[in-house]
Amino acid sequence: MTDAHRPDRWFVPESVLRRLKGDPEEDIAAARRDPDAFWLAQARAFEWTKTPTTGLTWNRPHMQWFADGETNITLSALDRHARGEARTRAALIWLSETEEAQVITYGMLHERVERAAAGLRTLGVTAGDRVVIYMPLTPEGVIAMLACARLGAVHSVVYAGLGVGALRDRITDAGARVVITADVGYRRGKLVDLYAIASEAIAELGGVEHLVLWERIKTYQREHDARTVPWESLFTHGRAGAVPVNAEHPLYVLYTSGSTGKPKGVIHTHGGYMVASTYHLGQLFDVRAGDVFFCTSDIGWIVGHSYIVYAPLAAGATVLFREGAPDFPDPGVFWRTVERYGVNVLFTAPTALRLFMKLGPDVLKGHDLSSLRVIACAGEALNPEAWRWAQQHLAGGLEEGAHAVVIDHWWQTELGAPILGTHPRWPARPGFVGRPLAGVDADVVDEQGQRLPDGVQGHLVLRRPTPGMMRGIHGNPEKYAQVWTENPAGYLSGDLAVRDEHGYISILGRADDVLNVAGHRIGSADVEDALVSHPAVAEAAVIGIPDDLKGESIVAHVILRQGFEDQVGRGLRASISEHVRRELGPIATPGEIRVVTALPKTRSGKIMRRVLRAQALGQDPGDLTTLEG
Ligand code: AMP
Repeated sequence: MTDAHRPDRWFVPESVLRRLKGDPEEDIAAARRDPDAFWLAQARAFEWTKTPTTGLTWNRPHMQWFADGETNITLSALDRHARGEARTRAALIWLSETEEAQVITYGMLHERVERAAAGLRTLGVTAGDRVVIYMPLTPEGVIAMLACARLGAVHSVVYAGLGVGALRDRITDAGARVVITADVGYRRGKLVDLYAIASEAIAELGGVEHLVLWERIKTYQREHDARTVPWESLFTHGRAGAVPVNAEHPLYVLYTSGSTGKPKGVIHTHGGYMVASTYHLGQLFDVRAGDVFFCTSDIGWIVGHSYIVYAPLAAGATVLFREGAPDFPDPGVFWRTVERYGVNVLFTAPTALRLFMKLGPDVLKGHDLSSLRVIACAGEALNPEAWRWAQQHLAGGLEEGAHAVVIDHWWQTELGAPILGTHPRWPARPGFVGRPLAGVDADVVDEQGQRLPDGVQGHLVLRRPTPGMMRGIHGNPEKYAQVWTENPAGYLSGDLAVRDEHGYISILGRADDVLNVAGHRIGSADVEDALVSHPAVAEAAVIGIPDDLKGESIVAHVILRQGFEDQVGRGLRASISEHVRRELGPIATPGEIRVVTALPKTRSGKIMRRVLRAQALGQDPGDLTTLEG
């Protein structure tokens, strides 16, 4: 164990402890004693049209939480605040790339969502229907999500940075009849023509009946798909009350990448998801009603679903979110925002911290960050250097006098809410994500499901369901069952991990071929599919190699079709790269394309990516006995 991993390396200063509210130990003990009673007690903090009396119903792999309860998540996220003194409190503070601010109170948000929901109803959207949302990070995107939820319809948000092919696949898989989009999004001052992408994606999809279009730039005229409906027209049909649904009713489907096949649509529900995500917002991030909570994710990802939209609103907090890149128009923009809006809690990704670490502390000069209590990081490994830098420069130091703590925590799209983490009251152990949180039964096991001793690397599993977990994979029950049956110990996360003698867990990376670029999960299979759909590419294999800033970057190996060899050096790599960007979006575009004549394969034809990875890193490729001769 290196010095950086020693538990006494850092303590939690009194100055920080004084500002924190919850204490997790009691909750951990209570949840261990009687998990159902614990979660039912948490559920009482929400609005129900029928209060649940049952906790978990477990028939592996199928789970239900609060199965006799009835609610609609928007009752807790909107109605209860709009009725009370929080009516005039800011629910959303949105900043554009150019720092133009829009403040929407709980009262205003409630009304806009009710109107948008009534409009969607006139398009025939009812409970259970899937609606795809392809919107930039704006209040309109949030309103679209909440309006679907209001009706009991199931939204499926597709990140507005994804390309035509990725969007088309998701609309098709979800079976959406309605797609909601905008004319443009902004990234580094440039316009991204979202409407063109959406129109192209649905061009051949007869099942899509309506394309709702929010026009931000009215002067940006072009021909419209005949199915286009103006966003504004939704707001002219009165207001829609919340449709009460069973706690287990699906709230959304969110697509995420696996190692094989197409992205899978993870299903989350109204009841359990609301309780778990909001509970951890309060307990782990210490967010309280009225706090300003700055979440730097996007509504296209799970973090944006849980921590830009549902949990902070259910908690009555003010959520601050911003369109655009963290260092545009200048690298001071994040810290100016923290100071200007008195941000109390910040949720960001290690990639952003590493970016600021690289830029140096000058960027922070002159900004008062003392309103911050907690800086929470997730999505990818938080390396000890980035943690230490952030604690030193953003949180006020590593000793007495610090005003905040930088905490790491771990979860996944499938899990809806944090699972492991370093509670602000616990000493940080750089390199370790933390301990299992209240109500979580996580462990490190071998392939047979046997618990491994401390210090031995194995698979991270959850032995028992948590309320925020996925209930299924849209249209693919077999794939869903697989995550609960592949390892006898429980839910198989796909991550490799190791536990230390203090019960802290360190995440060592994926056990499969899923890449993590700047906190975004990308299936190597998705990128390979996009590569081979280019006319010049016969075969492709994609690996991730370490990257100082983004955690991992993508290297593609391609074998060319006959007749294309002489185009290498004449723009072929750029053409392949552009093709992947169009299909999947910029985040999945390879940083490097290597043209090769053969790929290392097993005798059964499986590509041995670890051999490619070893070659790329100049390492020993290890055991090659299964390599094709
Ligand atoms: P996603 O479902 O896109 O949120 O990706 C989840 C994956 O990101 C996990 O399975 C991990 O591989 C990785 N991940 C998330 N949080 C952390 C963390 N705190 N430390 C290391 N890896 C993480």
